[in-house]
Amino acid sequence: MADSGQIKNIELDAEHEARRRTALVQIRHYPDPVLRMRAREVELFDEALARQAERMIELMHDAAGVGLAANQVGSLQRMFAIELSEEEPARAIVNPRVTPLGDELETDEEGCLSLQGVLVPVERSIAIRLEAQGVDGKELVLELDGLPARAVQHELDHLDGVLLFDRTTPEARREALALLRPRVVLTSSR
Ligand code: ZN
Repeated sequence: MADSGQIKNIELDAEHEARRRTALVQIRHYPDPVLRMRAREVELFDEALARQAERMIELMHDAAGVGLAANQVGSLQRMFAIELSEEEPARAIVNPRVTPLGDELETDEEGCLSLQGVLVPVERSIAIRLEAQGVDGKELVLELDGLPARAVQHELDHLDGVLLFDRTTPEARREALALLRPRVVLTSSR
């Protein structure tokens, strides 16, 4: 099975499953307001930024994700971690700008680490050009298509405070919101 949006479809062994749960606790979940905020351009490429990028890449791996945006760890910097392919190491992308290449769109199911259990159809550009900076401030340009292109568009949305609900069909949105409605937990006090 292919990856969906932000979530990897792989079987985890017991140890990684435990790490995944620990990672998910550290990730902000809907309806945390930080997920609805626009992250700000990064201007300072310092040691703190590099450390933050490393932490996000590690958390993304532990959470079995293919991408993780700064908003999702409570930081409003325009930066995300992403795994563009199995062959190359995950990397951090800073100040991304995305331009569609051509006007072909494709609808596919997407999940999100901040919306556990939600899988909804989202229409995205098939091919894009990504212009950004690395954590060292160096400019980079990548042309992507298929899953990596979809993943980048998903992460860029996070930096703009956009969530899957805003991109899906009205029916899927209703179902997803019903699924995420805060559940009342009854606890016995003694
Ligand atoms: Zn997401």
